[in-house]
Amino acid sequence: MKCRQCQKSAVIKMERHNTSLCGGCFNLYVHDQVDRAITEQKMFDHGEQILVAISGGKDSLALWDVLIKLGYRTAGLHLDLGIEAYSEVSRKKVETFAASRGLDLIVHPYKEAYGLGVIEIAEETARPACSACGTMKRYHFNRIAMERGFPVVATGHNLDDEASRLLGNVLQWQEEYLEKQSPVLSDEGGTWARKVKPLFRLAEREIAAYSILNRIDYIVDECPMSKGAKMLLYKDILNRLEEASPGTKHKFYLGFLKRPRAATATAKPVDLHPCQSCGQPTPGAVCGFCRLMQRVTP
Ligand code: AMP
Ligand code: ZN
Repeated sequence: MKCRQCQKSAVIKMERHNTSLCGGCFNLYVHDQVDRAITEQKMFDHGEQILVAISGGKDSLALWDVLIKLGYRTAGLHLDLGIEAYSEVSRKKVETFAASRGLDLIVHPYKEAYGLGVIEIAEETARPACSACGTMKRYHFNRIAMERGFPVVATGHNLDDEASRLLGNVLQWQEEYLEKQSPVLSDEGGTWARKVKPLFRLAEREIAAYSILNRIDYIVDECPMSKGAKMLLYKDILNRLEEASPGTKHKFYLGFLKRPRAATATAKPVDLHPCQSCGQPTPGAVCGFCRLMQRVTP
């Protein structure tokens, strides 16, 4: 198998582009896809400082690697969720990556901040673990970005993540969620950090290949609390469709983005004012995170 671009021996075959590429040309392809996502969707520019949310998994570490190579100014943010061995390994991977490249990294450990990890917080508040964890992650991404002066937060969501979420939302016609599926959620005049997903054009297997090719050492294990079985089912179904008809995921999600409504989405709920407890913008009197923490017995 030869590289379609330069005839060297290919390392990856990409059915959806009807091509095979060598390591060098594949790296260029990945950088180009991220560059296109950033510029076409007006995510950020070289003058802005980007806070990159780094879990320790392949997607977010690959994202950080690419943003640095494209010359963007970045710092990493790792939330140490306090899920025993899983969080210890994740944090170590992130810290090693940052230290070996001399990158700025902010680590926020829940156990030090709140005395509890995310599983205990979910148990104490009788919330499903993934739902409490999602509330806490969104809150901290925004709060830490605003406090430290980052106008943008980038996450490692990829094409498979976005297409499977879209499938779930469409199957249940959750129109209010559909509006939030844009890869850029605006900052509404600076009251909120802009949320961006620069990997939305890249499939999960492409990012895995990029990470291996570039010797990025990431945590392979999934979170032990792991995602809803439904999301895994949607991913599996999309993979089967992709195999039968390469390009299905791309056409599904990027076709959705061409609709005019998706382009005007915002990260900010309407009528925000400062949370009575923590001062972060919220549509209610007290923000979701503070309501969660109020239910944790002191
Ligand atoms: P997930 O919801 O676990 O698929 O993660 C989606 C994205 O959220 C990742 O690619 C990261 O950018 C970010 N993320 C997830 N977990 C963490 C974490 N513990 N600390 C910082 N960022 C995270
Ligand atoms: Zn609050």
